[in-house]
Amino acid sequence: MSEKRGIQQEVGAMLRKVSVVTALILAIVMVVSTVCFAEASPYAVSPVTKAAYDKLAADASVKEALDFIKTDDANTLKEQRTICEIPSPPFKEQVRAADYQKRLVAEGLKDVQMDKEGNVFGIIPGTGNGPKLLVTAHLDTVFPEGTDVTVKEKDDRLYAPGISDDTRALAALLSVVRAIKDAGIQPVGDIIVGGNVGEEGLGDLRGVKALFRDHPDIDGYISIEGGSRGRITYLATGSHRYEITYKGPGGHSFGAFGMPSAIHALGRAIAKIADFQVPTDPKTTFTVGTVSGGTSVNSIAAEAVMLVDMRSNDEQEVLNVEAKFLSEVKAAVVKENARWNSHAISVNIKLVGDRPAGSAPDNSAPVQAAYAAMQVIGGTPSLSGPSSTDINLPVFLGIPAIVLGGGGDSGNNHSPDEWYANTDAYLGPQDVLLTILGLTGVKGVTEPLLVKGAVRPILLETNGKLQLSQADPQKAGSLVTVPLRAAVEGLGGQVTWDQASKTAEAKLGGHSLKVNVGSAQVTLDGAAKTAAAAASLLNGKTMVSLDALTLLGIKGEYVDATKLLKLTF
Ligand SMILES: [Zn+2]
Repeated sequence: MSEKRGIQQEVGAMLRKVSVVTALILAIVMVVSTVCFAEASPYAVSPVTKAAYDKLAADASVKEALDFIKTDDANTLKEQRTICEIPSPPFKEQVRAADYQKRLVAEGLKDVQMDKEGNVFGIIPGTGNGPKLLVTAHLDTVFPEGTDVTVKEKDDRLYAPGISDDTRALAALLSVVRAIKDAGIQPVGDIIVGGNVGEEGLGDLRGVKALFRDHPDIDGYISIEGGSRGRITYLATGSHRYEITYKGPGGHSFGAFGMPSAIHALGRAIAKIADFQVPTDPKTTFTVGTVSGGTSVNSIAAEAVMLVDMRSNDEQEVLNVEAKFLSEVKAAVVKENARWNSHAISVNIKLVGDRPAGSAPDNSAPVQAAYAAMQVIGGTPSLSGPSSTDINLPVFLGIPAIVLGGGGDSGNNHSPDEWYANTDAYLGPQDVLLTILGLTGVKGVTEPLLVKGAVRPILLETNGKLQLSQADPQKAGSLVTVPLRAAVEGLGGQVTWDQASKTAEAKLGGHSLKVNVGSAQVTLDGAAKTAAAAASLLNGKTMVSLDALTLLGIKGEYVDATKLLKLTF
């Protein structure tokens, strides 16, 4: 017993010693790690950016502009309320756009205009030969026509649909413009300031698509969103959305039994889609969001429709899941028809959303500038994960872009209970102003941090619609080559590919064009022709010279100045 107790006492003493040592080690580890965390900066601003922001922070007129925004706070809030009460449903932004256009004129911007898409913008001209920076907030809300947009005040909060997203940003941007004017600041680069349409939902980024299509010389972009300051978004989650409609003759469930069903075809497709495997990194997702169809319980369905959303932080993964999806959608037609030995089911495939994804470095000029600006204004900036916003397009095109918050606090965005609180709200437009000035430079103070001459790729438009993820026309000398599938399918035709013979066949308007990779010989409706250049493969796409496409009756126009290839049929 005693011996045992002795051992126990010894073990107890040892354990006590061990725990004292453990505690000491833990304490040391904690002190060391605290020191390490304090020393290891989560994000580094380059010496060049730091030097520029030291100069800007010390400049009297920049200080004056920042002070102006603070004194302009009440005015900005008033303007935010007024703009919020102008309804701006998707595709119906005209009234708010016209109002915003007047405000841009009143602030003294040059060349204020509304483009064909409905975007409104004007210019703060630079000294000449500087970079061109685009800064916009979106005019559209998610709320349908008839929504009550009256601003209501309760407990220091303003409640109204759209009061934060994106009316806060529209108002903050006007305050930034006033501050530049009031302080007499002359930027080196040009600043294009405006309100854009089509950011939300099925608007499908139509506003920024038009802006970047029409202005191939934009070097950088800042999108302002309602919401608190401090976060910098620079990555883009891409999404492709489809409306799939299966159609058949339909009939009585008993009397016409033996006929294929549109709903059964849809079910076959969904069963396959539901089992898709996608990567977790880069995060890639798919959802059949809605289904509808059929007319009654005792009818074979004549129509069945689904809306499908596919997303990824990597454009190639969007394309991968999309390819599997389209293949299963088509296979379901074959299977449903085969089941009943019929040809009656067909499918209509409609792309209703195309927001391209893109990767971007975290040290681009706009990210660096915004980070440094926020450090000057005060607070701890942070970089956000990818999301789906107006910067998707420039990021995809390789043009540096960020999203910044317009200031204040907010919640319940996209809901009728959306609210906004004007807490320290002036810090938002101050961040935006200082980020802009770093990027464009200020005459006599700093050189632009934004690099002039960003090269956006050639864009392809088919019958007035921009084709993005599948399309990258190329130009070498006077030869323009076009991705065959994007061109022909964008104009309503179809392209099939035979891997064994490396032959693609395009069908459009009752004609057939066969091209062979590696050969300039093509076949139009069975007759041999010669194209200006051999068909080739680029990133898995069959590229043909523009003249080969014209054999199908396609009209093509390429303008070098706008880097836009327009195809019509
Ligand atoms: Zn928004």
